[in-house]
Amino acid sequence: MSERWALVTGASRGIGRSIAKDLAQQGMHVVVNYHSSPDKAAEVVAEIEAAGGSATAVGFDVSDRTAVESALADLLEQYDSPHVLVNNASIIRDGLMVFMKPEEWSDVVTTNLGGFYNVTRPCLKPMIRERRGRIINITSVAGVTGNAGQVNYSATKAGLIGATKSLAKELAKRGITVNAVAPGFIETEMTKNLPLDSIRGAVPAGRIGSPEEVAAVVRFLASDDASYVTGQVIGVNGGLI
Ligand code: NAP
Repeated sequence: MSERWALVTGASRGIGRSIAKDLAQQGMHVVVNYHSSPDKAAEVVAEIEAAGGSATAVGFDVSDRTAVESALADLLEQYDSPHVLVNNASIIRDGLMVFMKPEEWSDVVTTNLGGFYNVTRPCLKPMIRERRGRIINITSVAGVTGNAGQVNYSATKAGLIGATKSLAKELAKRGITVNAVAPGFIETEMTKNLPLDSIRGAVPAGRIGSPEEVAAVVRFLASDDASYVTGQVIGVNGGLI
C-alpha cells in the first residue's frame, strides 16, 4: 500500500475522533482504534468516508499486550510502517490518593502508560527501516502541573512526557519525530462530570477547548512542516499554564 496511513488509538470519540477525522482530511488512510465502542468507531469511519476519505475501524484494548501485538502484526503486514502513530487512548479513575484502590492505580497505569509501550514498540522497527514516521503522544496539563484527585492519571501523563523526550532522542537520527500534545480542559466525555462553568473562569481564554483545536496541533506535528520539531510538549490549554 503506497498511501500514507495513520493509527489513532482511542479514536471512537472525543479528541481521538477529531484527530482521526482531521488526519483523514489530510489524505491519509486512518485506522480508527476503539476498545468498547465499535458502533461509535463505525460512525467515525462512515463520517470519514462520507467526506471522501478512507478509514478502517480496528478494535483492541491498548492495555492487552497480546491483543495489541496480534492486531499490529496484521496492520503492519497489510499497510507496512505507519506514517503517523497517535497514542491517544486513555482512562481516568479519579479520587484522592488516600482512598485510591490498587486497581484504580494499576488500570490507569496499564492503559495510559502500558498502552503507549504496547502500541509503539511493534511500530518502531518498521519505522526505523523506512527512516520516517511521526509519533504523537496525547498527554495532559495534569502531567505537567499535577492535579489533586488525579495522582494515578498525572503520573501516567508525566511518564508519557519522559518517554516522549527519551524516545525522541533515540529516534532523531532515524528521521522519526516524537512529540507530545498536552491539552488543558477540552469538552469530551472525559470532562463531562467536571464543573465546566467554574473551570471556565480559571482559564485565561475564558472557555473550554474543543477536540478540533487539539487535532489541529496534531495535524501540524504530523505534517512535513514539523520535520525539525521533536521531543517537545505542546500545550493546548487556553493559557492555563
Ligand atoms: P474520552 O472522551 O474519554 O475518549 C477516550 C477514548 O479512549 C475512547 O475512544 C475510548 O474508546 C478509548 N479507550 C479507552 N480505553 C481504551 C483501551 N484500553 N484501549 C483502546 N482504547 C481505549 O477521552 P478524551 O477526552 O477524548 O481524551 C483523549 C486524550 O486526551 C486522552 O489521552 C486524555 O488523557 C487526553 N486529555 C483529555 C483532556 C480533556 O479535557 N478531555 C485533557 C487533557 C488530556 P472506547 O469508547 O471504544 O472504549
